[in-house]
Amino acid sequence: MVKIGVLGLQGAVREHVCSIEASGAEAVVVKKVEQLEALDGLILPGGESTTMRRLVDLYGFMEPLREFGRQGKPMFGTCAGLIMLAKEIVGYDEPHIGLMDITVERNSFGRQKESFEADLDIKDVSDSYTAVFIRAPHIVSVGAETEILAECDGRIVAAKDRNFLGCSFHPELTDDHSITRYFVDMVEQAKKVQV
Ligand code: GLN
Repeated sequence: MVKIGVLGLQGAVREHVCSIEASGAEAVVVKKVEQLEALDGLILPGGESTTMRRLVDLYGFMEPLREFGRQGKPMFGTCAGLIMLAKEIVGYDEPHIGLMDITVERNSFGRQKESFEADLDIKDVSDSYTAVFIRAPHIVSVGAETEILAECDGRIVAAKDRNFLGCSFHPELTDDHSITRYFVDMVEQAKKVQV
């Protein structure tokens, strides 16, 4: 069984743990840098990216997280976690972790749409997935190697770049574990290659 961490500094952590376990992997809440070494993959949860960034810096996670991704270990950023992973953020000079070849824009679905559900067709995952969006970012553009997995109202809301998976919505808030299962598959494949 692969071991997948959920960065536990801030945000929707416990629900991701349940979703990982329901998808057939072992889940670990990560609060210390030393825990990263034993993991095969990592989920960066939703929450508030500016707060998450402050805590990542405070607890010395930034370089270890970048190193984790550079080793080829899969990382899955959801909502604020997607913002954490992106190489570029509209209106910001510098990214946060900055490993996934996408540009994101924060809070981009407008005030009246602070939170909503939408039925999505997610490539290789599900053709009818109910996604929960909460003050969600969207992906403005993707790099040459990045595959677009889903769009909502003409905006990119899920993508995959090498070992990086990201989505604008909260997969842990629904009973449909198909996208977490897709990430668990990525982690299993990556572990086979590394062994
Ligand atoms: N709006 C938040 C941010 O910019 C993300 C919201 C979420 O993760 N639900 O970080």
